[in-house]
Amino acid sequence: MRWRNWSGTQHATPAAFEQPTTEDGVVDLVLRAAREGLRVKAVGAGHSFTPVAVTVGILVNLDHLSGLVSVDRDAMEVTFLAGTRLRDVPALLRPHGLALANQGDVDPQSLAGAVSTGTHGTGIGLTGFAGMVRRLRTVTADGSVHDVGPGDPLYDLGRVSLGALGVTTRITMAVVDSFVLSAVECAEPLAELVADFPARAAAVDHLEYYWFPGTNRAHVKTNTRHSLQDAASADLPGPVPRWRAFVDDELVSNAAFAAMCSLMHHVPRTTGAMNRLAAASLAQREYSDTAHDVFVSPRRVRFNEMEYAVPLADATEVLAEVHRTVDASRLPVGFPLEVRCTAADDVPLSTANGRESCYIAVHRYHRDDYRELFAVVEPVLVAAGGRPHWGKLHTLDHDGLAAVHPDLADVAELRAQVDPSGMFRNPMVDRVFGI
Ligand SMILES: Cc1cc2nc3c(=O)[nH]c(=O)nc-3n(C[C@H](O)[C@H](O)[C@H](O)COP(=O)(O)OP(=O)(O)OC[C@H]3O[C@@H](n4cnc5c(N)ncnc54)[C@H](O)[C@@H]3O)c2cc1C
Repeated sequence: MRWRNWSGTQHATPAAFEQPTTEDGVVDLVLRAAREGLRVKAVGAGHSFTPVAVTVGILVNLDHLSGLVSVDRDAMEVTFLAGTRLRDVPALLRPHGLALANQGDVDPQSLAGAVSTGTHGTGIGLTGFAGMVRRLRTVTADGSVHDVGPGDPLYDLGRVSLGALGVTTRITMAVVDSFVLSAVECAEPLAELVADFPARAAAVDHLEYYWFPGTNRAHVKTNTRHSLQDAASADLPGPVPRWRAFVDDELVSNAAFAAMCSLMHHVPRTTGAMNRLAAASLAQREYSDTAHDVFVSPRRVRFNEMEYAVPLADATEVLAEVHRTVDASRLPVGFPLEVRCTAADDVPLSTANGRESCYIAVHRYHRDDYRELFAVVEPVLVAAGGRPHWGKLHTLDHDGLAAVHPDLADVAELRAQVDPSGMFRNPMVDRVFGI
């Protein structure tokens, strides 16, 4: 079979594609690969832009190892089969009155894929997915199953694993009581927002903004958390009516935007006008809804992305420089930049390890060549001590990554111990770990 990722930039022709239905099936597959000298790579939704899931060996997908294993309400922890898609999590947790504390802006990803690459949302009091993991169950290259928590190297060093340590079959996540988000989406002057970004991020539960190059306004999204009880008694606006959601999220943000991207691709000189139009047409609205429905929006226009995490304390200078650099490049960039923030965590290889972080993402329409824009912006982010998202495009090699991830050597040593034959290697794993 021929495999390609969501954006279409990464391709592979694996020797086999397997979808085991049990953990024993994963063990059998790993033992077979060992006997036949094949490599193995787990893949979730293929939503990484990097070649992190590419293999010439056995590509293993856990869509059939999906669902809830157990709920521990006292500990506020839930164990999922690792192939569970994020879009299925709300229905699994709702009967228990529980939810994930935070999410990114789409939900097709698998839980294991989101954890393994350090996927994150926005919110200065909250970590990304890897910071919410409490236990892992992983099949390593010798076919053994490790059920590990704090104190075990496979847990301590192996949450952001890039799939290089084995195939994870179960993940226990910290959860919270179900909650409601009230959302305010509006346009604001860019310069003031950038000048205040760290303070603004600290003042609200969830803050993010989008900026269309060449414009001087940002589209700002601010979400506030409410318990179900508080939401019932508070005077919150209701959910976005279905017709309005269809117009805003499907017609304007997706269908019209797709047409604009296509026009800008064929006639690049229209980009400035299109960006001004896109910035002006984005929804200005206030609403509240179940958290998952506010966090997640449909993304039907395909793109490529580079995203770095820089220290939140430096965000104002770095953001100003990124905006200046993109505008000065005069490249016809018709996709908005996205800016978010998270709490610090203590997860090795996490982009937010040890520091509150501001995430700066640049995108290009999938038919446009992304390399020129990314090459212009990446030096600014690297100079700021930025750490690239493991699922998003970047050009750092082992030395560049080791300079910003002090624990890379420890994870590399663990990888060599648990996978001496290199079953879970691929070219990206080799580049990251300096093999
Ligand atoms: C439209 C879009 C929106 C996005 N939005 C966000 C966002 O808001 N925030 C953010 O941080 N990122 C975002 N991303 C990036 C995305 O969340 C990550 O790349 C994530 O890893 C994708 O999950 P996946 O299931 O597709 O994993 P894949 O891309 O399929 O795999 C990623 C890695 O996980 C490993 N893996 C998968 N399953 C297992 C397993 N069972 N055991 C061991 N390793 C495994 C793979 O080997 C690979 O190394 C977005 C991507 C797209 C395309």
